[in-house]
Amino acid sequence: MAEQLGRALTRRQFVSSMGLTLAAIPVASAAAVAGMQSAASPAGAGAQPAARPMPKENKLGDPPGRRVGIAVVGLGNYALGQILPRIAQTQHLRLAAVVSGNRDKARTVADAYGLSAQNIYDYAGFEKLRDDKSVDAVYIILPPALHAEYTVRAAQIGKHVLCEKPMAPTSDDCRRMIDACARANRRLMIGYRVHWEPHNLEAIRLMRKGEIGQPLQIVGQHGTPADPSTPHGEWRIRRALSGGGSLWDVGIYSLNGARFLSGEEPVEVRASYRRPPGADIGGVVADVESGINWEARFPSGLVAVGTSAYDYTVNHMFVHGEKGSIALSPATSYQGNEIRIKTSAGEEKPKVGEADEQFLGMLDEFALAVRENREPRTSGREGLRDVQIMELIYEAARTGRAVAVPPAA
Ligand code: NDP
Repeated sequence: MAEQLGRALTRRQFVSSMGLTLAAIPVASAAAVAGMQSAASPAGAGAQPAARPMPKENKLGDPPGRRVGIAVVGLGNYALGQILPRIAQTQHLRLAAVVSGNRDKARTVADAYGLSAQNIYDYAGFEKLRDDKSVDAVYIILPPALHAEYTVRAAQIGKHVLCEKPMAPTSDDCRRMIDACARANRRLMIGYRVHWEPHNLEAIRLMRKGEIGQPLQIVGQHGTPADPSTPHGEWRIRRALSGGGSLWDVGIYSLNGARFLSGEEPVEVRASYRRPPGADIGGVVADVESGINWEARFPSGLVAVGTSAYDYTVNHMFVHGEKGSIALSPATSYQGNEIRIKTSAGEEKPKVGEADEQFLGMLDEFALAVRENREPRTSGREGLRDVQIMELIYEAARTGRAVAVPPAA
């Protein structure tokens, strides 16, 4: 024991080493213990507690009562792996409920996030959310073919909607979603997290500053193997639930990226299937395409070339300009994205924030749009635009012809 005391036990360690709890010893004795400790620790001599200023980098966020309460609808891979853990890290959002078809899973998730049994809903009882005043909004993280139905139902019970990409299987569905939210005066945002991704934002800043001159070509490559033997791979190869194949699921990042990085809207698309619907994916005949290549022309003369795949992994965006080029690789991952810029001055790898910030940026933008009663940055119109263009890419692949893209309404 003496030897232990010589090593300057904390008060808690000392008390615990005596088989006691802190509450079990009177304050005077505890003070004596503390005295023994500082006497035994020359390093601690004269040390006093001192107030420090609030660190600038640690934002506390709103107190719970001021945060926008959100119900997460669909407890799958993305919800559990990426979204739920980050809601607690936001400044303005609060997890208020979960909606799931699996009661046991929902109970486990609710326990993990401090929700009570009353905060668990199922799809049939979705409308009960109307009376849950702790829920201001829903975050729809279901397969795309369910996005329209749950957006409309949410708007009808007075809830704001954050909905995952792709917005829906058809542009008509997207319009129904926009109309329902507009009629109910509710906000509608699509979860385009990359719009808050620091490396992508840096690419835009460098482009607008003219660092690579006039952009001439954008190349977007996105691929991830779809595994129909997993719950989250199974629906991806079924059009009835997914709305489309690799273009709809991951190719959308190349298309949205080309529009977002360039700030332009395409006027014409061409496309061809590399692996059309009917190809084998993981031993199952898929009714969506697993590989498609497309090209989009923009008014400035810029051409974007996109590829998407369900049979290999790839994640890049390249912008080639008159005076240099920018490589985002990986471009749209959850973590670990990187940017390089190459000009006549040499090659640089700008240091920007962490890719992870994209989630908090997106979630807080939604909360603020709800609170400030304004259109969010990636509204339903942004989701509709991608779906319209992807429909035309499919038409171009089917017909083998160039298809004009009408201006956005
Ligand atoms: P999962 O299959 O892992 O999760 C979907 C969940 O939806 C299921 O777990 C289930 O939740 C619920 N669900 C309800 N009805 C069905 C049904 N008929 N078939 C399958 N699931 C159903 O998919 P993901 O999490 O990968 O994708 C969900 C959405 O998120 C999609 O729109 C996808 O495009 C999008 N996404 C977005 C990403 C991004 O980076 N922005 C990344 C990954 C996905 P429960 O059991 O609780 O009812």
